[in-house]
Amino acid sequence: MTPPEIFAIREGPPDGPGWRIRVIPNKYPAVDLPDLKTPHEIVIETPDHNADIPDYPAEHLRDLLLVFRKRLKEMSSKKDVKYVQLFRNKGARAGASIFHPHTQILALPFIPKRIKSELEFIRAEGLDFERDEGTRTVALEGDFIAFAPYFSRFPFETWVVPRKRRPDFAQTEEKELLPLALLLKKVISALKNILGEIPYNLILHTLKDRDFHWHFEILPRYEGLAGFEVATGVYMNSKSPERAASELRAAIKEESDERRDSQTSD
Ligand SMILES: [Zn+2]
Repeated sequence: MTPPEIFAIREGPPDGPGWRIRVIPNKYPAVDLPDLKTPHEIVIETPDHNADIPDYPAEHLRDLLLVFRKRLKEMSSKKDVKYVQLFRNKGARAGASIFHPHTQILALPFIPKRIKSELEFIRAEGLDFERDEGTRTVALEGDFIAFAPYFSRFPFETWVVPRKRRPDFAQTEEKELLPLALLLKKVISALKNILGEIPYNLILHTLKDRDFHWHFEILPRYEGLAGFEVATGVYMNSKSPERAASELRAAIKEESDERRDSQTSD
């Protein structure tokens, strides 16, 4: 039994058929917040059991981003909530316990250490792509850039960010969400073309602090974590970010060439 929905993009009345995207509470929430009835939500991305982001039409992915924005806005407006984490696990190694395509959104009563250190880092140095001369750039779309950070922990780790520093994803304008969707789809499709059906995490880091810079991190998980990484928090990455970016650029180019060829031969 699916619990009653919190929100949906759908035809027909709530909790029946006809939905395209729906949000439900997690039956086993990982946190308990007095101010928030459902601190742990699940966004069911599509009725199609086997689809993944590369299969979604860009407009569908745009609608999914709209739902993310709406839920983040609402959850982060509650008094007890200090931070909201949106994450997507694809494949068992990336932590998925149910296999229908979904994203989880979890509200926390504190700001996690990882986010605090990212904030310090961004405040001091800004994001990597601002100094890179293009060797780690993967793709551009509208006001957004995808790049492989020099501190990549995983082979083919890619971040997708607005080029101008903006702290809070919830403030993104609706018209920006289509180019953002196109860029995410492009990068994840390229990863799939290079690596096949690998597990990956897609996470969003966003904060209401003027010095932050919101970003999606796409983290392929085909190598798994070894004892050294777990022991030290230091990651060994067998792929240089420059190499990863260049292979991703080539895969994106190949796909757009193929699309153009198939259009001109029609
Ligand atoms: Zn981050």
